Amino acid sequence: MKTLKMQQTRAYNFSAGPATLPESLLLEARAELLNWNGLGLSVMEISHRSAPFLAIMDDAEASLRSLLAVPDHYHVLFLGGAARTQFAMIPMNLLAPDAEAAYLISGCWSTMAYTEACRLKKAYCVATSESSHFTTLPDYHPAALHPDTTYLYYTPNETVDGVRFPTVPSCGEVPLIADMTSCLLSEPINVTDYGLIFAGAQKNIAPAGLTVVIVRADLLKNTPEPVIPTMLDYRIHAAKHSSYATPPTFNCYMAGKMFHWIEAQGGVDALYQINCLKAAKLYQFIDESSFYHSQVAVDARSIVNVCFTLSQPERIDEFVQQATRRGLFGLKGHTLVGGLRASIYNAMPMAGVDALIAFMREFSQ
Ligand SMILES: *Cc1c(COP(=O)(O)O)cnc(C)c1O
Repeated sequence: MKTLKMQQTRAYNFSAGPATLPESLLLEARAELLNWNGLGLSVMEISHRSAPFLAIMDDAEASLRSLLAVPDHYHVLFLGGAARTQFAMIPMNLLAPDAEAAYLISGCWSTMAYTEACRLKKAYCVATSESSHFTTLPDYHPAALHPDTTYLYYTPNETVDGVRFPTVPSCGEVPLIADMTSCLLSEPINVTDYGLIFAGAQKNIAPAGLTVVIVRADLLKNTPEPVIPTMLDYRIHAAKHSSYATPPTFNCYMAGKMFHWIEAQGGVDALYQINCLKAAKLYQFIDESSFYHSQVAVDARSIVNVCFTLSQPERIDEFVQQATRRGLFGLKGHTLVGGLRASIYNAMPMAGVDALIAFMREFSQ
């Protein structure tokens, strides 16, 4: 049987998602794969209603609550499905038929969320940075919110465009909804700033197929829509502790491991410090070079998705091919915006950023 020598075969994976996971988690999962917890079974073969599995769910929820100091009046849900299921669930669950929600449009993902909301309910764009091709932040003023706006929706980190809001938009008493798919757990947040936070797991938490939702309990009290398909109804998932249907069990198990890994790194604050250093190093190299360019305004730059281009754009494919041969994987930008993108989430070590910079320096010479 062929055995993998991990240290030698693992590439640095800069993919935006599914993204790199800490090697120690993969090794742990491999060691436990055939016989989890002495049961003689794989964790993916056990009932989601069995005591050992419920213990995994409880532990994952408790760890996430502790990492983010989630107060008791918020539900933490582990739902199956892609992050963009939430683009529909949010208006379906929170918006009355005659009410309207505000959307801050700062890139690809908020645009898609807004489009979906408009298909289902009434939504309006309160500010957009489309005119700068999403290289700046939208010029948002809370005074632009219509009276009786049900919620304000935004995307704190636009994964495709490499744009990040450095501060939380203020909106008074209007509940704030945040798509944190590519930034949850990479920087400190105050959960009470938000009515609802969601994150697809495949960027920063676990394999694809799981979406984490943190929602203030009172927002679900008066769900205004009389009929919501059962699987899309937050109230059902909250009442059944994410086990109304079969949750993506293996992903929840991996998420739990990831939460413990983050604790062991010193928590979200410690990772944020490292993430800032990684991003600063890469942007500094790009800014000092005449061969590489970042088009994103300095105050709007993501610390986890670094988008850049070459002064010779026709050499992008060559860049990607040579990088891949050097064990630097997933650097091609999203097809919508082109260029290059290095995603440097929590699980990307500084050594990966150093290896990327060394390659970029060589390629430019
Ligand atoms: C990746 C991503 C999504 C979409 O995730 P899916 O699970 O493919 O639906 C949505 N929002 C943001 C910010 C993302 O980065």
